[in-house]
Amino acid sequence: MHIEYKRVLLKLSGEALMGDDSYGINTDVIAYVAKEIKEIIDLGVQPGLVIGAGNIFRGVAGASKGMDRATADNMGMLATVMNSLALQDALERVGVDTRVMSAIPMQSVCEPYIRRKATRHLEKGRAVIFAAGTGNPYFTTDSAGVLRALEINADIIIKATKVDGVFDKDPVVHQGAIRYEKLTFDEVLIKDLRVMDATAIALAKGDKKTILVLNMNTPGNILKAVSGQSIGTIISAE
Ligand code: UDP
Repeated sequence: MHIEYKRVLLKLSGEALMGDDSYGINTDVIAYVAKEIKEIIDLGVQPGLVIGAGNIFRGVAGASKGMDRATADNMGMLATVMNSLALQDALERVGVDTRVMSAIPMQSVCEPYIRRKATRHLEKGRAVIFAAGTGNPYFTTDSAGVLRALEINADIIIKATKVDGVFDKDPVVHQGAIRYEKLTFDEVLIKDLRVMDATAIALAKGDKKTILVLNMNTPGNILKAVSGQSIGTIISAE
C-alpha cells in the first residue's frame, strides 16, 4: 500500500478512550484504538501519539468549581499520563513496541521527553506517546499535539474525533450539517470552528503544518488517511 505520510502525529482526545461510558477508560475501546494504530505501524508509518484527559479530568472543570487553575491544569496533565500508560499497555498487547515520554519528568513511570530521543524511537519503529501535554498549565493537549508534530517534523497532524471531519454546525445536533473537505487555518479561526483551540491552530499556521480531522470510530480511517485517500477535513495554509 502506498504511504503518503511516513511520520504522523495522531492526537486523540481523552474521550476517545471512554466509548459510551461516562468516565474513564473503556478496555474494548482502547484495544480497538491500539489495533488501528498497529495497522499503520505495520505499513512502516512512524506514529507520535498525544492523548488528552477529558475522560478523567480537565483543568477548566476544576477551575469552574473554584480550584486554582494552574493546580487543576497540573491534575489534567497528570491524567494524560494515566491515559498514555493505558494506551501503551494496549499497544504492547498487540505487539507494538511503545515508549511513553512525559513533559513532566517522572522517571520511575516513563521516560522524560527529550526530542532527539523521541525521533530515535520513531526511527526504530516504536510508537511514541507524548504524555503530560506541553508540561505547562493554561495549554491543551491539542496545542501539545501541534507542538510535538513540529518538533518531530511530522508530515501531518491527524486529529481523531467522533465525527467525519469539520462541519458548519454540530453534526450530532443538526441533521443538515455540511462537512468541509478543505479549510484554511484562517477560516477555522475566523469561523470559530472549534476543531482545535486557537492556540493550537495558530501554532500549526505558523509552520504551515497540515491538520487532517477524521472519524476515529470508523475502522480503517487512519489507514486511509496515511495512504493519502481523501477523507475527513484537511486544514492547511491555502
Ligand atoms: N493540560 C495542561 N497543559 C497542557 C495540556 C493539558 O494544563 O499542555 C491540562 C488541562 O487542564 C486540560 C487537561 O490537561 O484540560 C486535559 O487535556 P485536554 O483538555 O486537552 O484533553 P482532551 O480534551 O483532548 O481530552
